Amino acid sequence: MHSRRKFIKQSIVGAASLSAVATAISCDNNSSAAKGQGKKPIVISTWDFGVAANKAAWEVLENNGRALDAVEQGVKVAEADLENQTVGKGGFPDRDGHVTLDACIMDELGNCGSVAALENIAHPISVARLVMERTPHVMLVGQGAKQFALENGFQEENLLTEASEKAWKEWLKEKNYKPVMNIENKAFATEKLPGNKYNHDTIGMLALDANGNLSGACTTSGMAFKMHGRVGDSPIIGAGLYVDNEIGGATSTGVGEEVIRTVGSFLVVELMRQGYSPEDACKEAVMRIVKKKPDIAKDIQVGFLALNKNGEYGSYALQDGFTFAVCDNEKQDLIEKGKYHYNPKKS
Ligand code: ASP
Repeated sequence: MHSRRKFIKQSIVGAASLSAVATAISCDNNSSAAKGQGKKPIVISTWDFGVAANKAAWEVLENNGRALDAVEQGVKVAEADLENQTVGKGGFPDRDGHVTLDACIMDELGNCGSVAALENIAHPISVARLVMERTPHVMLVGQGAKQFALENGFQEENLLTEASEKAWKEWLKEKNYKPVMNIENKAFATEKLPGNKYNHDTIGMLALDANGNLSGACTTSGMAFKMHGRVGDSPIIGAGLYVDNEIGGATSTGVGEEVIRTVGSFLVVELMRQGYSPEDACKEAVMRIVKKKPDIAKDIQVGFLALNKNGEYGSYALQDGFTFAVCDNEKQDLIEKGKYHYNPKKS
């Protein structure tokens, strides 16, 4: 389907709110999906690397594709990006030098699939989708997940890039496990964390298609230099991702242990069911972490991102520096700054 896009660069300064638009490139879009059937296609995803991922998802959405296909295609871009050391191939390894990947996916019917601690397979999100579609199970892990992937035509490959191996070898000198926040936000990382290469992040993506259906996907290489076998929130349905087609979807990034403890994404969706806006629901989920663990909360990052059935979205994070990307028929390449609760610089 042909669509004409006119990119106009704009800089918009949001004076009223920290969640206001930072920089936008808007576009004209004449696709039929963009005109829609009373529903507004939209895709949102975590961090600056969500921009490129959203573009791939939008290709599906603007052609009246299914949100499920959009989120799979979208996050695969981040999984394939070798520069991205927190997702997919090229991700940082665990402390033993293995790149182990976690991912999950959920559709509008409540179907879901997940893989955890998957090695040597470049697209865990597609394996997760096949777990959903071709098995009676929700989750496969480790060797079993790999065996399933190979049986279904995935190729075994080395996921450890030279750059990530080098970083791991440097880390081995001190073996100091200390997750650092927000490195995927380039501005934050270079200005506030000079020289720091070790980190974690996740692409969580939520899409609403032209038929008004929601789906989500979440994929990561997890915390850099984690213990072998460690699984974070990202492949856990309800923690790293949750979608209820009646209400909305939510996804998370940051220290997965805290998100699992609060069943964060499920909580965000249930709060939206109670009438919370996406942003307020994300904020309440963040505050649960703060209330339970104030001491830990000030030193870690956790961010939630949510999209409701009407296409409204919002986010909230523990710390400054969290960003997310938005793409719909009015704007693409849009990066927004998440609101945050606790700013270590100010406290
Ligand atoms: N949530 C991921 C994990 O704990 C990492 C991240 O998003 O920063 O594995």
